Amino acid sequence: MGIFGSGDTKIAAKIEKMVRTIEQECEYTWRSTGRRTLQPAVLAAMARVARHEFVPTAMKPFAYDNNALPIGAEQTISQPFIVALMTDLLEPQSDHAILEIGTGSGYQSAVLAGLVKKVFSIEIIPHLADQARRRLTEMGYVNVTVLQGDGYRGLPEQAPFDGIIVTAAASHIPAPLKDQLKPGGHLVIPVGLPYSHQELMRVSKDPHGQISTRSLLDVAFVPLTGDEGRYR
Ligand code: SAM
Repeated sequence: MGIFGSGDTKIAAKIEKMVRTIEQECEYTWRSTGRRTLQPAVLAAMARVARHEFVPTAMKPFAYDNNALPIGAEQTISQPFIVALMTDLLEPQSDHAILEIGTGSGYQSAVLAGLVKKVFSIEIIPHLADQARRRLTEMGYVNVTVLQGDGYRGLPEQAPFDGIIVTAAASHIPAPLKDQLKPGGHLVIPVGLPYSHQELMRVSKDPHGQISTRSLLDVAFVPLTGDEGRYR
């Protein structure tokens, strides 16, 4: 699933460079993020996913650059460093069930799929949800379920989750997502103004259910839309 033929040395070299760039970005940002290095399993998961399969044809030459790229419908596939960092902040384990809000291309789901037992991902734009579902199925990712809808309310029927990741910027931290987090779990979410100041936040629930929130890094995400999450 998402592994390249051994003959594809060009792509392998691009991926190796992408992983090195992620490691450098960690060095530059660790005073804010607290992450000087990422878990080897997270970097290995990043190296296993064929990012070029998740971007439009015109973007394929840039697929392994450390940049967000357009995927249509005014949406983006996130920057590899941010995908890796957010994944690491979830502290994924092989028996975890993770909820993602904002499937987009399906790339973040694919990275998570290589690390955890089950990924549920919700996308509000119908054709992006359909495209990501088809793509992930064709690539052999059997542990990802893509659902179409507004992710603000989470997925109560599958809750609680070991981790929750939101990949669009919210005006505030949605209460239903905090409720759907297991004790010991983390919710990673960009919070702030649309196309303006945003912070990557990590919301952690301790074993007693107490919530603590930490701001980690300035980021730039497309806004969370939908009736409840939109900016007022
Ligand atoms: N994780 C994606 C990937 O790997 O390609 C990138 C996500 S893109 C930065 C943000 C996505 O969130 C967009 O596809 C957007 O349509 C979606 N989105 C925005 N508001 C949403 C909501 N309320 N519920 C679900 N998805 C939403």
